[in-house]
Amino acid sequence: MQIIPLPAFSDNYIWLLRSGRHAAVVDPGDAAPVLRHLADEGLTLVAILVTHHHPDHVGGIEAILDAHPVPVFGPAMEDIAGITHPVSQDDEVLLPELGAEFRVLDLPGHTAGHVGYYGEGALFCGDTLFAAGCGRLFEGTPAQMYDSLGKLAALPGDTQVYCTHEYTLSNLAFAAAVEPSNAAITERIVSSQALRAAGTPTVPFPLEGELLTNPFLRSADPEVIAQAQVQAGHALKAPVDVFAAIREWKNRF
Ligand SMILES: [Zn+2]
Repeated sequence: MQIIPLPAFSDNYIWLLRSGRHAAVVDPGDAAPVLRHLADEGLTLVAILVTHHHPDHVGGIEAILDAHPVPVFGPAMEDIAGITHPVSQDDEVLLPELGAEFRVLDLPGHTAGHVGYYGEGALFCGDTLFAAGCGRLFEGTPAQMYDSLGKLAALPGDTQVYCTHEYTLSNLAFAAAVEPSNAAITERIVSSQALRAAGTPTVPFPLEGELLTNPFLRSADPEVIAQAQVQAGHALKAPVDVFAAIREWKNRF
């Protein structure tokens, strides 16, 4: 199975999964690049997967369904037009035409019902985990997002993470402010700048690198704790409170 990025809007990636002449798409915020790619490549669409209800993730569903009436998998807890298969934690998404199976992960935080799809060594996590960052807390609490990120951090280290935005360089600038002495962040800035200079996406990326460079997965690190306490203006005891202080700082960064 190939996984191909279809750039959309200013910094979104719609992920197209392809095996032979069959394809599925994840978070089609815009129908145009999807319909164009399917036509250009002569592909048959077999499914749409959706992580959460924001327009830049669901805006293309209706127009795609007009041309390709296929099953639409999406979060059971969110009201999204076109969903035929509402899914939640531990549901299986079987795409036999692609020879692919995914397990659903509930990932509340960015939105209340956000889900992710894990399988075939890949994670489609929408706006929950980004390269060196995480989604804003529009509907969920810090504790919910902290738990959702913890669920993702526990997946195998070689999992390839397919998030939905190219935010990597700005996220790394923040990560470097949180941990000025973290050499892995400095190295990742150099390698990511080279990718972007060549017009190459920085996504996907392996999960294991996040554990070294993503401040939102590093709430137990002494330097992260120290910076969070400076930002909060008082001592922070629990890792979730460190996470909340770093997330709050990022909103102002
Ligand atoms: Zn979103």
